Amino acid sequence: MTETRREQFQALRGMRDILPPESARRRALTAQFIAQCESADYHEVVPPLVEDLGVFLRVGEATDVVTKEMYDFVDKDQTRIALRPEMTAGVVRAFVQHRPLLPWKVFYAGTNFRHERPQKGRYRMFDQFGIEALGVDDADLDVEVIALASRFFESIGLRQVTLLINSLGEHEDRERYTEAVRQYLLSRRDDLSEASQVTLERNPLRVLDSKRAEDRQIIRDAPLVADYLSAESAAHYARVLSGLDAIGVSYTEDPRLVRGLDYYRRTTFEFAAEALDSAQNAIGGGGRYDGLAEAMGGPATDGIGFALGVDRILLACDAEGVFTPESAGLEVFVIDTVSGEAARDITHQLRAAGISADRRFGGGSMKSQMKSADRSGARFALIVGEDELAVDEVTLRPMLGRPADGEQRRVGRSDLLGELNRYCGQIDPTNPRTIS
Ligand code: AMP
Repeated sequence: MTETRREQFQALRGMRDILPPESARRRALTAQFIAQCESADYHEVVPPLVEDLGVFLRVGEATDVVTKEMYDFVDKDQTRIALRPEMTAGVVRAFVQHRPLLPWKVFYAGTNFRHERPQKGRYRMFDQFGIEALGVDDADLDVEVIALASRFFESIGLRQVTLLINSLGEHEDRERYTEAVRQYLLSRRDDLSEASQVTLERNPLRVLDSKRAEDRQIIRDAPLVADYLSAESAAHYARVLSGLDAIGVSYTEDPRLVRGLDYYRRTTFEFAAEALDSAQNAIGGGGRYDGLAEAMGGPATDGIGFALGVDRILLACDAEGVFTPESAGLEVFVIDTVSGEAARDITHQLRAAGISADRRFGGGSMKSQMKSADRSGARFALIVGEDELAVDEVTLRPMLGRPADGEQRRVGRSDLLGELNRYCGQIDPTNPRTIS
């Protein structure tokens, strides 16, 4: 008889399974971010994962994210749709659709898709969280937004994060500057890398983003946007910088910082993790996108926001050795050497009372069940053998050697919850305990 071999599937290229305990760590990171957002009165918006392709085209038809990397397709209704490559476009589309009261201060957390060439820190499916604030034309809001990200990095223990900041000016300033950069790069065209020569045709400012050695030399001598700012733009930028100084957020001005998405105006910024390789050290970025709401068919509305890359932040945490979560903190492991009924009933009773509990299925000797208890990292082993069962008691054995947990002892079944509640707190399953 021939055996049929089944194909074994793997996750698609550039897409990863996030397994425990890393999954809990990501959740804890998001919880930490949400806490920062809520402390500044930002509330969650949950836009759909897919949108009409047009929503993303508004982001900028000259950006790689939109032209080359989008997962777009025609669905069964013949609608051209796309998996979101970033979240600002969907959030602004939602703003235009619902017209909430201003200012609208929201945060989001979710998955994006870009058909990029995968490498460490660059995936085809990745998570971002971020904020958007719409309806305020005030440089102090730029300060609030940047400070929120900066406090978040501090709160998770990251120390080696550099804030790079620049102003791209108003639309007209940017146009004049783009033209100046284009002229300059055209004059040096033959010395540029091939990739940058192509980019130059589509979007001259993007060439300034190139990390290629042959381009860096040329970029160094490119015109500076500061020389093209209107008085108003320059004043806005100065107010942002003095605000950051006032609240003690340090920054490095980077006159060549142009971010990938076309809709940015005025303030633009990026966070670089110094502990990561320069190719993947951008852990987040953002800026003002005055004009995007209008481009989506809504009223002219100022906006500013940022998106942080969850995957890269965690890589930066690894590199700095911070944000290492404690174990999930199982409180009780139930050992039943009789029939399994006590394990079945007691684990249910404990969980219902908010005490985390686990057990082993399929019985086994006392020794082997103790091994499982050890492996679980539980704080207490709760043992039910023939002796205990006969007198309706359990044996409670502290497993972590903490003096506060006392000695091994017998406890009546009816007193069990009261006894454990003195040691084990209520667990909030959405917020595993972590240390930074
Ligand atoms: P962007 O939306 O391109 O401004 O990206 C914001 C942040 O998301 C970046 O700074 C990265 O940390 C992260 N990011 C962007 N693209 C990817 C990707 N393909 N894989 C992982 N993280 C990404």
